[in-house]
Amino acid sequence: MPAAPSIVWFRDDLRIGDHPALTAAVERGAPAVCVYVLDEESPGIRALGGAARWWLHGSLEALRADLETLGATLVLRRGAAGRVIRSLVAETGADAVFWNRRYGGPERDIDAELKSGLADDGLEVRSFGANLLFEPWTIRTGQGTPYSVFTPFWRACVAAPEPRHPLPAPAPDSFEASVTDVASDDLASWHLLPTRPDWAAGLRETWTPGSAAAHERLAEFLDDRLGDYDADRDRPAIDATSRLSPHLRWGEISPFEVWNAVRERRGGAGGASGEARGRARFLAELGWREFAWHVLFHAPDLATRNWRSEFDAFPWPRLHPTALRAWEEGRTGVPLVDAGMRELWRTGSMHNRVRMVTASFLTKNLLVDWRRGEQWFWDTLVDADAAANPFNWQWVAGSGADAAPYFRVFNPMLQAKKFDPDGAYVRHWVPEIGTDDYPEPIVDLGESREAALAGYAAVKSAR
Ligand code: FAD
Repeated sequence: MPAAPSIVWFRDDLRIGDHPALTAAVERGAPAVCVYVLDEESPGIRALGGAARWWLHGSLEALRADLETLGATLVLRRGAAGRVIRSLVAETGADAVFWNRRYGGPERDIDAELKSGLADDGLEVRSFGANLLFEPWTIRTGQGTPYSVFTPFWRACVAAPEPRHPLPAPAPDSFEASVTDVASDDLASWHLLPTRPDWAAGLRETWTPGSAAAHERLAEFLDDRLGDYDADRDRPAIDATSRLSPHLRWGEISPFEVWNAVRERRGGAGGASGEARGRARFLAELGWREFAWHVLFHAPDLATRNWRSEFDAFPWPRLHPTALRAWEEGRTGVPLVDAGMRELWRTGSMHNRVRMVTASFLTKNLLVDWRRGEQWFWDTLVDADAAANPFNWQWVAGSGADAAPYFRVFNPMLQAKKFDPDGAYVRHWVPEIGTDDYPEPIVDLGESREAALAGYAAVKSAR
């Protein structure tokens, strides 16, 4: 058995099951140092939003407990990740470093520099695919370019070799000799949880971070909801979707685990045909997650820059701060929009259909630049994801890949009629609806739509 320890660097993969980097360390047979680095220093790394910080705290606690069952401790460090890992190597005398790949631009730069530096120093450095079903460089058009439209992208993915089976979690006490004398920050000292004020009560009521909760959600979804998923997934009043997004975001469950569990599923609620439709539709939703990450891989500045550069010509009017504030606080006088924004503030999440409606309302009725909305979601979503969030905002705004045509403006009143027909969702979040306490709409939906379309004319002529 080699005496020098291996370092396993945990990033957005806070789990012990299907964790190839951790498995590699177990197979190597040496003691392991498992580390998570809170990196708020490296250039280009986007600071986590408040809801994400809340989630991260719980997720690290869960990971620590899971690692303890293997005989490993979780070391917490803060600082520029490249520097932190190098100093950990020096402190521990580690001669191997393993991690699972990440796909954001600044993150890849950090990892590539570290990898070559450590390899030059003679360490064994290995990275693994664990967080996407298909590596972004493997899915390309016949011309060798990345896909810009979802349907052919997903067709190419489905035609590619099937995603691998997940790796089992290492056996209890896999690490016989744990490395325990490595200094670690105290998680509380990171102040990830809000205190003054403590606005996280609704998050605590709604969510349980950690792998165990993720696997419970998946099992429950497959047993109770997969068969009706295709029919009900657009109805915000119905608990019809998996609610796995924050667990996937933090890597508490891997997409390979989800993919295989769905593929192997037979029988269940909704009848066989409902199941088959639900399965295909749900896998395609995982496909949208893949697509968002592939788009980000090829356009690392997706959160700040129009994916379609002709949108740079869009004449966003001067920001009206009270309108943005009313949207954030769910006081626009448009019931479905207000319901969604209040759900978001309270629970750190919002139903997908309502995310589309609220984003459309902000960009196409209030004429606020999509980047302002993206930033608000980034701060308030527990699943705030560096790819999915800007990707979907740009999709709704019309500036993104496979975007909804700009002229297709969601009408929030018609959307409510169609997807919340008995008003249950709106009444739940906006109980004062229909009373004098509820405001008139802050904007005329028809007039603002016309203004948005006029802005679009400027984009078209810039082509
Ligand atoms: P399910 O319907 O059960 O879908 C299963 C999984 O597929 C999800 O957990 C998610 O990982 C993935 N998925 C589904 N739809 C999408 C999609 N459109 N894009 C990418 N992945 C998808 N999702 C995030 O994970 N993080 C974000 O920051 C995020 N921001 C969004 C912003 C806007 C403006 C919009 C319109 C959508 C955004 N989404 C984001 C996508 C989607 O709303 C959520 O993934 C979904 O609501 C999560 O609920 P669920 O887990 O029950 O989804």
